Amino acid sequence: MSVPKSRKSRSAVRRRRSHHHMTAMNIGTCEKCKADVLSHQACTECGFYKGRQAVDHTRDAQRAIAKQQNDHAHHEHEKPAAEAPADKKEDSKEQKAA
Ligand SMILES: [Zn+2]
Repeated sequence: MSVPKSRKSRSAVRRRRSHHHMTAMNIGTCEKCKADVLSHQACTECGFYKGRQAVDHTRDAQRAIAKQQNDHAHHEHEKPAAEAPADKKEDSKEQKAA
């Protein structure tokens, strides 16, 4: 591992650290609901962006999405799908035997 040849001066350290500050976030206000909004992002409250409804944040829409995603996640409905892999396994066994 390489080692620094000489100690950095207080000035050099401070010059380097002069860039270590953070900048304030660019926060605007939503045209529609006046909530605080990050620039270049749709409003997290109402989904409005650049004069149009970009994202549907209404509770009904969120519920519909959640229902689509969660449907049948915790249990299996279709037996053919479960049987298909079993058939493949049997095929592979037969191939090995032959
Ligand atoms: Zn809004």
